[in-house]
Amino acid sequence: MRTPRFTSGDPLACVRNLGILAHVDAGKTTVTERILYLTGATHKRGEVHDGTTVTDFDPQERDRGITIFAAAVSCVWDGHRINLIDTPGHVDFSDEVERSLRVLDGAVAVFDAVAGVEPQSEAVWRQADRHAVPRIAFVNKMDRAGADLDAAARSIRERLKAVPLVVQLPVGQEDAFTGVVDLLHMRASTWSAGCDVRTQGPVPDALREEAERRRRLLEEEVAGLHPGALEEFCARGTVSGETLAGALRDLTLSGEAVVVLCGAAYRDCGVEPLLEAVVAYLPSPLDVPPVRGAWDGAVQERAADPAVPFAGLVFKVNSTATGRLTYVRVYAGTLRKGDVVLDAGAHRTERIGRILRVQADRHAETDRAAAGDIVAVVGLKAAGSGATLCAPAAPLLLEAPAAADPVVSVA
Ligand code: GDP
Repeated sequence: MRTPRFTSGDPLACVRNLGILAHVDAGKTTVTERILYLTGATHKRGEVHDGTTVTDFDPQERDRGITIFAAAVSCVWDGHRINLIDTPGHVDFSDEVERSLRVLDGAVAVFDAVAGVEPQSEAVWRQADRHAVPRIAFVNKMDRAGADLDAAARSIRERLKAVPLVVQLPVGQEDAFTGVVDLLHMRASTWSAGCDVRTQGPVPDALREEAERRRRLLEEEVAGLHPGALEEFCARGTVSGETLAGALRDLTLSGEAVVVLCGAAYRDCGVEPLLEAVVAYLPSPLDVPPVRGAWDGAVQERAADPAVPFAGLVFKVNSTATGRLTYVRVYAGTLRKGDVVLDAGAHRTERIGRILRVQADRHAETDRAAAGDIVAVVGLKAAGSGATLCAPAAPLLLEAPAAADPVVSVA
């Protein structure tokens, strides 16, 4: 069993506010369901103690599949709280994509292993570029006829003008695809049909030479991009897995490169390594710049610190059987049940009722949400999507996002 790591260091370092970006049909829903299943299993083995009480979903909500359609679903993986923020896959919902990109800190871009980069993925990618959202890529449907990881990575380079760094080697091709070799740790993970658990072991003999060749290429590529890795490469003629992981994280956070993984979510194949990569490479709220806003003409910054005055953004409002759910990203300070908050744009105060985390199959009620967190609030009557909420004693109107591209052309 994994040891929860919430207890050591800053708990904020163990939060990932994550979006899944994809062209319709690339497999976003399947990847999301798989993540919720895997992290639900973790939950059953013992939730991290964070003061939440758990209530089941209203049966009507369960029937309507709120899990998938909720604006944000919270789950726990390896001691990390992952808030999965829904990002519409269709550019018709471009404003909604824009709003969700404002509240997430990192993203997984899902591509189809046969089609590679498709027009909608390109449009959403550019929006994510504008918000400087660090990304990793998951090339899904590796089991399909014509699946080609290298071609998908090439299309990321050519169409998205990004630098793909492929960190896995597929085990088997097309219908015989059963797993991946992790090129950092030189270990294989395989999944067999109908079997829930991955098997981890040494690199199969038949793939050893190719895995070593690709590991070498990865070391050279990373050394060419990262000074620390280059230093180790020059001194020792090689780069350790640990240095590679650190360098990949730096390159992801700076947007200089995109780590590429692969799998077949449909066959439950490759999603645990994806979650490990989310934790290893994507930012926590501590890794992103303080939020900026203004009041009375004075520009202010507020850090992701639970002790400073509260500031948050409403990014979605949903009507559900539980009531009007107002999804809030807490950027600074702490939001408590019963607090009176100011809707800064409307110059109106409102009271926070219940605070909920939407989980795979239930709502967990909590009495507070600290900087970095994403929660659903029950009880706000008027604050709409895009509203800034803040402590009335320390008012602040969050900066509007950069103007959207005038035209997004989609084939
Ligand atoms: P979304 O539109 O991006 O949410 O995509 P879905 O998750 O709904 O998947 C679209 C279709 O692709 C569905 O029919 C899935 O069953 C199928 N699919 C998803 N993942 C895989 C996969 O790994 N392999 C194959 N062959 N099909 C998949």
